[in-house]
Amino acid sequence: MKKVFLKKDREKLWLSGHPWIYSGAVDKIEQNIIPGSIVEVFNHKNEFIGYGHYNKNSKIIVRMLEHDKNVSIDANWYNQKIKQAYELRMGLNIDSNAFRLIHSESDFLPGLIIDYFNGYVILQISTLGMERDKEFIIQALINNIPNLKGIYEKSEGDGRKLEGLPEKTQILWGEIPDTIEIFEGNANFIIDLKGQKTGFYSDQRENRILLGNLSKGKNFLDVCSYTGGFSVHAMSNGGNSATLIDISEDALNVAKENLKKHINVDFIKGNIFDILRVLIKEGRKWDVVSLDPPKLAPNKRDLEKALKAYKDIILNGIKLTNNGGLLAIYSCSGAVSSSDLRMALAYAVKDAGVKATIVHQLHQSSCHPISVSVPETEYLKGFLVRIIY
Ligand code: SAH
Repeated sequence: MKKVFLKKDREKLWLSGHPWIYSGAVDKIEQNIIPGSIVEVFNHKNEFIGYGHYNKNSKIIVRMLEHDKNVSIDANWYNQKIKQAYELRMGLNIDSNAFRLIHSESDFLPGLIIDYFNGYVILQISTLGMERDKEFIIQALINNIPNLKGIYEKSEGDGRKLEGLPEKTQILWGEIPDTIEIFEGNANFIIDLKGQKTGFYSDQRENRILLGNLSKGKNFLDVCSYTGGFSVHAMSNGGNSATLIDISEDALNVAKENLKKHINVDFIKGNIFDILRVLIKEGRKWDVVSLDPPKLAPNKRDLEKALKAYKDIILNGIKLTNNGGLLAIYSCSGAVSSSDLRMALAYAVKDAGVKATIVHQLHQSSCHPISVSVPETEYLKGFLVRIIY
């Protein structure tokens, strides 16, 4: 096996559990290492520190996988990792048959994301190393998931480009229907596999259940509704009405299907940076307003611009909230911390001239665990706020 040697003290992050080795940390590399293969990594004293996936085309040149010299990264290793991850989810008492099964670094599998939807799994690979080990992953899923019906790959996004990988969408095993039905709390959804990312955002499950429970008899505004996640919960819990806004027609078409049993539901296709202002001009108000914009800060460089956008969205959201109503704001940008978002909230509250009380601090669902050693695995945060004029 080929060897990679690190500069002095550059093994410290990995020894504390963070698996990314940047190219700048590397002192020497053996010749002709096959990109994506497993390498042995050594510190500057030539002591073995672990195995990892190597890719010279990535800024993260090695993604560490294992500390133990006596273990090999093979079918059995992947089987253990996927078994552990599945057992964790089974023990979490998740009120749904849709959840994230592998949350990359949090499940010790950097570069791999797997979502489970009622007997089907969707996998997203973002590193060359995981790409090369795909057969092990497929076999481990077949071994560990009872009544598995199909495995679908939907590997897209910027991560792959950085690794020099093309996008891939394909059935890897079994059968995949066009749509899959799932439940979440007492809400039911169809999942459109051709939709964004993996078709359904289970990271918001706990927040959807929470808001749904608070929406009985209420008028609900679902800003960036996607396929109707929050609205379906609100209406399934006795909500009075739901208004959904999204820029994507495809997402709204699935939302219409998800909400077809309910009355008093309307759909607005458009850009929130325009539509919210129009609704304010019309003097419209709602009892519960949920603001779930896409990632506005892809990295730290965009932070300032993103915080302005968050503040703008929150300010408009407040103007659309009834006196005594609830407003939820979430950020799924890893670069935006909970205190950054709270600052944007505070500025918006000040500008709106209202009083606001945080009643819940929101976070990603438990099936997206946060690695204590890898802060990047915590990305979704939010606040549920009561607004008083
Ligand atoms: N709340 C959803 C997930 C929202 S994902 C759920 O619980 O499932 C973010 C959504 O924002 C996507 O559907 C995307 O189409 C939409 N979006 C992105 N930019 C937008 C914009 N400027 N105006 C309106 N919608 C936008």
